[in-house]
Parts: sequence; structure tokens; C-alpha cells
Amino acid sequence: MSQSKLTDRFGRTVNYVRLSVTDRCDFRCVYCMAEDMTFLPRQQVLTLEEIARVARNFVDLGTEKIRLTGGEPLVRKDILELVKEIGTYGLRDFAMTTNGSQLTTMAEPLRKAGMHRLNISLDSLDAEKFRNITRTGNLGQVLDGIDAAREAGFRGIKLNTVVMKGRNDEEIPDLIEFARKKQVDISFIEEMPLGEISEHDRGLALCTSEEVRDIIRQHHELVPATEDSGGPARYYRMPDSATKVGFISPHSHNFCSTCNRVRVTVEGRLLLCLGNEHSVDLRRVLRGNPVTDDKLRQTIINAMDLKPERHHFSANGDVQILRFMNMTGG
Ligand code: SAM
Repeated sequence: MSQSKLTDRFGRTVNYVRLSVTDRCDFRCVYCMAEDMTFLPRQQVLTLEEIARVARNFVDLGTEKIRLTGGEPLVRKDILELVKEIGTYGLRDFAMTTNGSQLTTMAEPLRKAGMHRLNISLDSLDAEKFRNITRTGNLGQVLDGIDAAREAGFRGIKLNTVVMKGRNDEEIPDLIEFARKKQVDISFIEEMPLGEISEHDRGLALCTSEEVRDIIRQHHELVPATEDSGGPARYYRMPDSATKVGFISPHSHNFCSTCNRVRVTVEGRLLLCLGNEHSVDLRRVLRGNPVTDDKLRQTIINAMDLKPERHHFSANGDVQILRFMNMTGG
């Protein structure tokens, strides 16, 4: 694998790309979307061939890790074709973030197509609360999907839980027991102010990673994991289990100095930071240069100069970024 040719003004190497394959989703999670979302018209959305071309060029520039996300990646038609194609690029790590609703049928084909790891969102183990948070989701379907993913033999499965006070913070011990029983990892995420929502007050709902750790410590010892994830999550182990517990704390822990990632939205906008608007339009370059990739590669290399030093999320829930997470690619 080649050394990454992507470095920014602050000496950070970018070797991880998150590609959004759709802005559409079968769920409407209260922290992620408004209830009445309008989705992008088809011509604004990259084709699967265009997404693969972006991925291939990032790999040629030294990218070692790709995550497919959305929206819900498994609602994109023919997504397996894209997974199969990217699966041939020799990545060190190829992953997907999914809500799990389609995994009973898709887990095995995904694994066979070359996907290494899955992150599955799970905010509640109570069917009614789950429905309330996702607005449309069916908990049983997702739990069956998690089992199907375990049987398919992925290298790693991690659950993602966005913790909201008064909503699912009481379920933290149950979620930990569930992860231990299923022998999967779990990360608890602080809600980020992405997109304007009226459903709840993000400032009031914020449950910090510190608070989540305190709750878990009433039940289990948490030992900081020695290995560096290289990402925003800080991991802990429990002495009597293989399950790792991660904390993603955009409010209380600034991880920008080691940021190694960029995102590409499904419109082909290369976003240099989750918490800033700095971006470059790759769709224009892709469609203006359909035959050769030189211009595309140079555009990606030059874009690194735009990567900001850090983001500034405030804890009062104020929206600083108008993009919803489904537009950004979570
Ligand atoms: N549909 C897939 C899923 O549900 O995992 C992938 C896309 S979703 C946008 C990716 C992740 O972003 C999910 O784990 C979700 O919980 C998280 N997320 C969405 N909005 C968020 C917010 N405002 N703050 C923190 N995490 C958020």
C-alpha cells in the first residue's frame, strides 16, 4: 500500500475517507433529521460508478480506510455492486455504518463482497423508545440484523449509541450488558449540533461521556485501552469481557489534532471537517473530466490545504452547522 500523498497545512496525514452513498434513510432519528426531510433529486446524486471513481482515486493517493455511510447505505439500490468494486482495492479497512434494518438479508452478502467491519446504530433496547427515537424503526428487525451480522463473520462489529438525557440514558447499563452478551463493541456518542431540529433541546439533552462513564463504573471497572484507535473515540476495556467501550465526545474532548479523515457527500462535496463548511466540489470535476483522473487527483491533493485546524462545537445545543448528519455522511 502506498504512503498517503494527502497531508494538510498542520502536518496531518489523511488516510481515511467516509463516503456517503445516499442522503435517504428508512429511519428519521430525532437527533439526525427533521421529520419532514426533503431528499436530493437524482441528478444531483453521484452514480455508483462516480462514487467508485472517487474511492479508487483516494486509494491511489494512499487512503487505507474507507467507510460507506449515509443516510442509510443499505437503502441505496445496487449498493452491493459498489461494495464488491471497492472490495477489490486492497484496503486495510473497509467498513460501513448502518441502522441495521436490512442486515438480516444483507449481512452475509456484504461480508462476501469484501466488507470488513460494521458499525450498527442502536439507541434503545425498548421497542417503544426505539420507535420514538427513530420515528419509524422496528427494534426486532434491527436485533435480528445484529445477529445476522454476527453470524456472517465480520472482523469487527460495533454498536453506536447517541445518548440523550431523559430519553435513553437510563438504558446505558442494559446496552452494556447487551454488547457483552453479543460479544460486540459499543461506543457512546455525545449528540452534535448538526442541522436545526425542533424535536428536543440539544443543550438540555446533552449527556457527556464523563457522565456515561460514571454510570458504567457503577457496574463495571473500565480500564483505558492501550491501543490508539487513531480516531475520535477513546476506548476502555472491562477486565472480564472482550467488549470494548468507546466514547465519542466532540464537546468534551477535542480530537482535531490527530484527525486523519475527510468526507465526501453523496453530491460529491469533499468536506474537510465534520464541524466546518470547508469543502470542494468533486462532482463538477468528475463530470467535467469523464475520461482521465489527473484533474480529480490534483483537486483532492489541493483540497487538503483547506482542512481547518479544528472545529468548535458549543455545548448549549446552538446549531453551527446547518447540514444534517444524513447529508454529511455520519
Ligand atoms: N443510517 C446509518 C446509521 O444509522 O448508522 C448511517 C448514517 S448515521 C447519520 C451515522 C451515525 O451518525 C449514527 O450512528 C448516528 O447515530 C450518528 N448521528 C447522526 N446525527 C448525529 C448527531 N446530531 N450527533 C451525534 N451523532 C449523530
